[in-house]
Amino acid sequence: MTDTSIPIALVGIGKIARDQHIPAIAGHPQFTLAATVSSSGGVDGVENHATIHDLLAARPDITVVSLCMPPVPRFAAASAAIAAGRHVMLEKPPGASVAEVLTLEKLARDAGVTLFATWHSRHALGAAPAREWLADKHVTRIRVDWKEDVRKWHPGQDWIWEPGGMGVFDPGINALSLLTAISPVRLHLTEAELSFPENRATPIAAELLFSNGTDLNATAGFDWRQQGDDIWQIEIDTDQGQLRLTEGGARLFIDDVERELDGLGEYPDIYRHMGDLLQNNASDVDVTPLVHVSDAYMLGRHLTVEPFHD
Ligand code: NAP
Repeated sequence: MTDTSIPIALVGIGKIARDQHIPAIAGHPQFTLAATVSSSGGVDGVENHATIHDLLAARPDITVVSLCMPPVPRFAAASAAIAAGRHVMLEKPPGASVAEVLTLEKLARDAGVTLFATWHSRHALGAAPAREWLADKHVTRIRVDWKEDVRKWHPGQDWIWEPGGMGVFDPGINALSLLTAISPVRLHLTEAELSFPENRATPIAAELLFSNGTDLNATAGFDWRQQGDDIWQIEIDTDQGQLRLTEGGARLFIDDVERELDGLGEYPDIYRHMGDLLQNNASDVDVTPLVHVSDAYMLGRHLTVEPFHD
């Protein structure tokens, strides 16, 4: 740890903590991984605590906690950390419901700490250039396809099939976070069809229809039954050509010509942004993607499809 680096704790050492957060913190000069909270042992060589309450009591010097557990247990951890005066980063989706995220936003504001509800897809290399290109265009059609094999990406993750786990919206909300960050038109969901395996509490597929109050054609399809290559793509037709983001926003095409992109990449850029928020005593909490998911559950037709077994 350098004299000026900020000690940070990671809470919930699962797939995303290991794949992305640990390397991103290691590569960021402003932060040092000082402790973990993990029921399964944590990270070799890093002090571990069994519960967030133990961490908060033992390490008052750790001013930032980054919460990487599934959405349902996140509110309790976030509210405890805020009550203890810590700055908090939330993995996406920032909570299991819209209301609890708004409560966290208020708690953080009242406590004078930073709350960053991260949406990693908004930090994809293509996100900012796409937003800039679209800013002065008239959008005529939007099509989102987010299709992957759940057995490949979520093996053995039971929580995604439980209430609050969001099912196919766990990846689908990444698409919604990216779309709502780049689109110059504000959308609201009008119809949805959600396919629930008969033995599961969350959907395996979803078709969504959006409106902006005009005749804009805006649809999204999320599917966890994809075989072969993953598809994480947003296509936006405008009066001045077509924009296409592929690979979750890592690649950008305008009228089928690929644009060169540069930047830090998703998780390094998330930690850069957290550094900026801390410096400015600011928070960044946008519930828009979660509102669309909530509306899909509220307005959607629920279909029962064949059972899913891991
Ligand atoms: P995961 O591998 O299942 O790990 C979650 C970790 O959280 C567990 O290993 C556990 O850590 C801890 N945990 C605490 N309470 C838990 C509970 N009630 N049930 C299960 N785990 C609990 O999940 P993940 O894939 O890392 O996803 C975590 C969050 O990151 C989700 O919100 C997800 O949407 C988001 N995310 C995931 C990915 C991805 O590619 N997997 C990508 C981007 C974002 P300990 O064993 O250390 O206690």
